[in-house]
Amino acid sequence: MNTPGRIGFVSLGCPKALVDSERILTRLRAEGYELVGDYEGADLVVVNTCGFIDAAIDESLEAIGEALDANGRVLVTGCLGARPERITDVHPQVLGVTGPHAYEAVVSAVHEHLPPSHDPFTDLVPEAGLRLTPRHYAYLKISEGCNHKCSFCIIPDMRGRLASRPLDEVMREAEALARAGVRELMVISQDTSAYGSDIRYRPVEHRGQTLETRFEDLCRALGELGIWVRLHYVYPYPHVDRVVPLMAEGRILPYLDIPFQHATPRILKLMRRPAHAENTLERIRRWREICPDLTIRSTFIVGFPGETEGDFQRLLDWLEEAQLDRVGCFEYSPVEGAAANALPDPVPADISRERHDRFMAVASRVSAERLARHVGTRMQVLVDTVEGEAAIARGPGDAPEIDGQVIVTGAPDAAPGDLLDVEVTRADTYDLHGHRVTD
Ligand code: SF4
Repeated sequence: MNTPGRIGFVSLGCPKALVDSERILTRLRAEGYELVGDYEGADLVVVNTCGFIDAAIDESLEAIGEALDANGRVLVTGCLGARPERITDVHPQVLGVTGPHAYEAVVSAVHEHLPPSHDPFTDLVPEAGLRLTPRHYAYLKISEGCNHKCSFCIIPDMRGRLASRPLDEVMREAEALARAGVRELMVISQDTSAYGSDIRYRPVEHRGQTLETRFEDLCRALGELGIWVRLHYVYPYPHVDRVVPLMAEGRILPYLDIPFQHATPRILKLMRRPAHAENTLERIRRWREICPDLTIRSTFIVGFPGETEGDFQRLLDWLEEAQLDRVGCFEYSPVEGAAANALPDPVPADISRERHDRFMAVASRVSAERLARHVGTRMQVLVDTVEGEAAIARGPGDAPEIDGQVIVTGAPDAAPGDLLDVEVTRADTYDLHGHRVTD
């Protein structure tokens, strides 16, 4: 049985600060931490400070000093945390400072310095949390919000600016999921390639190493888990080039979900898309040189305001050249509150529909051609379900729910979550067929 971490807590200030303290304590207790009433018995002390008037600041600084003298491992939060230098100038040895009403930040600072323990005999919630996905795969959310301002999107208004979870916290969740039997992790966010930029790529300690909270370090650390790791919502920034070798080495799946949305610079600019000035064809070519097995999935919008037949034709040419493996397409429709609603030259609905159909005709042909290259090869697949004689599985190029499947025969004893070796015998537009091989 794991020993729970023991937390000492000092709550100063007004009733609002008291409520904050209660919330932090409730969360920590629910996570299995033990709350202790003295400094000596605690593994870590949290001081919730007040910074309202000079006397309150003095009292807070004094309480921090007392906790440091008696215990030595102190995290500071609360109103005075809004001006961290007031604390660190006097007490540079504190482990960390977070601001007022920042529950997530305090809890994650506690996790960083005193990782939570899990007792399978008494905890009501499994270590890996309650999940709605099947046991063998899970989504790993690495950040919330978005710093872009795509003109068709209102997510930044709804969910706020990018807020990345520190890398060690993400890794603890990923490790717990792997221990719980998850075989495949889908890394998700609004903008996975921007991970950590909002917290200045905060360095963290993870398994004896100092890592930075950034896309590349995260991919590297996840690649050590020995399970499938799939990247979603990546933008084609130059630094993405550095994770493609990890795919070629088999550390993470050779799969990139990149919502390109369009291909002509003029429309991408009207869409205010991130990385709209990048030469994406060149970038894709280079990625495939490094990792020939790379599957690229994307989504596109046709009929965006101002899209001419010429723009659309260039999009089709781009798609032919890019040879994207998995592609979805939406006809543009205005979203209440989105900046694109004010753009001139809307595209009539019948033209949008016609472009959608032409686009999907090319996309499905490319998909079939790309899949055909697997026939006669071997691949590892992950079984999702078993239907009669067939195991319905997915290969490295298939994310659950959105991509294709691999239908496997010759595996009567297969069960969901099994990894099977398969020889591919046939390909159709979106799915592969094959039989199990055991040698
Ligand atoms: S569409 Fe653009 S603004 Fe919306 S979440 Fe994605 S990157 Fe952010």
